[in-house]
Amino acid sequence: MPIKPVHGGDPMPLESPDDVATLVGHLERRDREPAWLGDHFSYLAGTRPDWFRPFQETVIVGNHLPYWEVVYDDACVLLAGASDRCVETLAGRLRDRWSGYDMWALAAIGTGAARVVIADLVRAGADRQDFEDSGIWVPPTGPAEYRFTPQRRVVVLEPGDFPGADNPVGLPVERIVRDPATTPVVWHYASFRLGEIPGLPPFPAERAHLVAPASACLWTVFADIGADGRYFGEEVRFESGDDDPDEDYADDDPGFGAGRVLLRPYGPDLIYSNGNIHSSPGVVGTAGGPPIGLYPNPSCPSCKRLMFHALTVETYIREHGDGFRSLYLCEDCHKVASTATGWN
Ligand SMILES: [Zn+2]
Repeated sequence: MPIKPVHGGDPMPLESPDDVATLVGHLERRDREPAWLGDHFSYLAGTRPDWFRPFQETVIVGNHLPYWEVVYDDACVLLAGASDRCVETLAGRLRDRWSGYDMWALAAIGTGAARVVIADLVRAGADRQDFEDSGIWVPPTGPAEYRFTPQRRVVVLEPGDFPGADNPVGLPVERIVRDPATTPVVWHYASFRLGEIPGLPPFPAERAHLVAPASACLWTVFADIGADGRYFGEEVRFESGDDDPDEDYADDDPGFGAGRVLLRPYGPDLIYSNGNIHSSPGVVGTAGGPPIGLYPNPSCPSCKRLMFHALTVETYIREHGDGFRSLYLCEDCHKVASTATGWN
């Protein structure tokens, strides 16, 4: 069974819609640990989200969200397309009293009705940052825009020598920047074929590169990308300000950790535990899906719009620093951002 409840205990079977009804019954009666329930819902998000669809109103309108223990990226799959009744219920509750649970459930729905309500709430004074941290941008006019695709792919690492790989790990920096003599980039994690991530906006380059400067801090590397697929105009911003006080990682071995990544669909072959799939063999992250939501997401330095989240991986993909690394795009300005965040 690919469900490993984080606090132990045997998982229940989820082999039919009736099993899902039994699972939701546990939630309604509060007779199981929320974390135990959560890993089952995570498995459903990865395998049969359609079986959960009849229970969207049960969970939202019945106000079970605080006991649901589902992480946001799974919620974006399980609550996708929920009814306008769900949207109106959440909007009404949020206008009465702000709740993080109701806010992210509304954010996870993704319908036209939800986009209009989110824009109305922000223009009426709701905290724009809450939605931006969830990957949603409210423009000056019109409905909210989703700056991520809910369609996810698992990022699986294969160490080794793979010349000509679609998604190479550990390329020499001179292969990915136009001017190696002046670039602040010292490390290549991986390059990703954007066409393998369904739902990304059209982008002029076939691949985008996840890269790092020589820094142990939290940083963002912005770059322009040309049709040749190479970065130019790279610029590093540090969370701590203009200067990087700590260049611990300048000497990481450039030959270390070569390989490739494969992007695979979610499915029953993964291990679902503690609200994630990272204990599955070889899994180092997720392409598509929302940003991790623990940190502010980058805005495009040119047009200031919230950038589109492409993927997030762990530094295990190719050790350099410690934490999560994410890749973002601005499809209008042809800009890419690589960001470093801590584990939580
Ligand atoms: Zn832009």
